[in-house]
Amino acid sequence: MKKYDFDLFIIGAGSGGVRAGRVAASHGAKVGIAEENYLGGTCVNVGCVPKKLFVYASYFSEEFENCKNFGWDAEKTKFNWHKLMSNKNQEILRLNKLYEKLLQESGVEIIYGKAKLIDNHTININESSISAEKILIATGACPTIPDLPGKEFIISSNDAFHLESLPEKIIVVGGGYIGVEFAGILNGLGVETTLIYRGDKILKGFDTESREFLSQEIEKKGINLRLNTTINSISKNDNDLLQIHLDTDQILDADMILYATGRHPNTAGLGLTEIGIKLDNSDAIIINNDFQTSIPSIYAIGDVTNRYNLTPVAISEGIKLANDLYGNNKLDMDYENIPTCIFSQPNFATVGLSEESAREKNIDISIYKTQFKHMKHSLSDNTEQTFMKLVVDTRSDRVLGAHMVGHDAGEIIQGIAIAIKAGATKADFDSTIGIHPTAAEEFVTMRNAST
Ligand code: FAD
Repeated sequence: MKKYDFDLFIIGAGSGGVRAGRVAASHGAKVGIAEENYLGGTCVNVGCVPKKLFVYASYFSEEFENCKNFGWDAEKTKFNWHKLMSNKNQEILRLNKLYEKLLQESGVEIIYGKAKLIDNHTININESSISAEKILIATGACPTIPDLPGKEFIISSNDAFHLESLPEKIIVVGGGYIGVEFAGILNGLGVETTLIYRGDKILKGFDTESREFLSQEIEKKGINLRLNTTINSISKNDNDLLQIHLDTDQILDADMILYATGRHPNTAGLGLTEIGIKLDNSDAIIINNDFQTSIPSIYAIGDVTNRYNLTPVAISEGIKLANDLYGNNKLDMDYENIPTCIFSQPNFATVGLSEESAREKNIDISIYKTQFKHMKHSLSDNTEQTFMKLVVDTRSDRVLGAHMVGHDAGEIIQGIAIAIKAGATKADFDSTIGIHPTAAEEFVTMRNAST
């Protein structure tokens, strides 16, 4: 008889947990998984998936304008938020069921409820104890709301996915990717949108020139961007309008205020520190290179470790851990050159080093860049510009970074990421034949370094 109820018990059925469970079970491990909210976690329910559906929805307003000079008459358009919400909810329900089916078909036992650790091998769920030889914590993260007067009026990104109706006027706070994406979504859906950020440039950490370029583009689309701005408090006036008090004593009004200023690892209430699991000063679980916490039988992956906080990273970590523990071929986990996209309008996608990070590393670099009007807009009246940039190691000729602000940048940079990961040189880019006419071909036709 086995000593434990499960070989592996996973807390959290999100991107990382579900994949780890399925892969471990496929290697013959007896796996259980606990989920307190919804199968699929943040990405499926209040993250990537509904966000991208909203992004698609918000693009149409611009497309109805773009199409006119191509001969289309799209005068009488009307947007129905309830229809979008209801269709989005149905799609998510379909994905929740799909996740359930995939887990069940893999032989993973699902237990709905909030799990808590009791000791190195025991978990408590719904007042029952479960034992496991190994435990994986994949509980993700959740939005934080700052502690300021009037915080009860603030909504988070989680709430934004369940709005009963759209406001007429919104203030989005936060210059990270979630704030920038929501500002684009709401602006595209016809909401008067102000994006407030306390820093001097949105999207800290990304290539500076690309960040500045994107700022100009989103302002052209109608987002009122207010940088170097801090909110002191929020109140409501007699007309039920929110009053946003800035540190400059200026007051802005809005029907709604959405904060996207940070996320916190879901470590509270799990019993972690009680049993000796160490957390860092952001309350994220500290792990070693094998995803082991300070207790060797307990592992952690994904957003709860607060490192890369992206779905494909959580999934890759889940696959690697399950293979390492139960498979016969150990996989390497490579955190270099992780491509990523901000689904703003237009998209901002990036892979590899920014110009600043390459210079900080004292690499001798050459910069190749181009800015142009997308061919589609040669007929439309849309003034959107596309920007592309390559950061090249002058000595080795290797392309170290690629950055793009423009339509479908995410789709384009994904391909470039393979080339960069494979070590492509600028000469490889130059000798690649372009696909004509596309925007992407500009990546293989930039001949002259700007610096
Ligand atoms: P999660 O997917 O968050 O799963 C954790 C699960 O654990 C949850 O289901 C939770 O309910 C459950 N749980 C927590 N505590 C317990 C407990 N005690 N007992 C039982 N269950 C518990 N990433 C991208 O790559 N691309 C994007 O475009 C993108 N867009 C995003 C947009 C938004 C608005 C947000 C918020 C995130 C976005 N992300 C995106 C990030 C991505 O969603 C996360 O990186 C990813 O979901 C992390 O996966 P995870 O497995 O670590 O955690």
